[in-house]
Amino acid sequence: MLHRIPHHSTKYISLDTRLCQACWKCVETCPNGVLDKVNLPFHKHARISWPDNCKGCQKCVRVCPEKAITLSQTNIHHNKEIA
Ligand code: SF4
Ligand code: SF4
Repeated sequence: MLHRIPHHSTKYISLDTRLCQACWKCVETCPNGVLDKVNLPFHKHARISWPDNCKGCQKCVRVCPEKAITLSQTNIHHNKEIA
């Protein structure tokens, strides 16, 4: 059996499947087909199936009502506090 290895992030965004409520807005909104559905009877959440297609438009970040999709850590500039 072949399974696609699930990705939790692309170069631009990260998906926290624990927060996902499977509304599918992100799947419908992504213009590049990056996101896909895991739609089993007791196991439903969005997943990142084609991370290389992500262009970083952030439409999925804006459309998600659960804030399950956020900008990838690699794109966040951390402000280090100097004590
Ligand atoms: S940032 Fe844009 S291209 Fe990337 S997954 Fe989200 S909607 Fe799709
Ligand atoms: S928009 Fe958010 S809650 Fe809806 S399927 Fe996508 S990640 Fe899950």
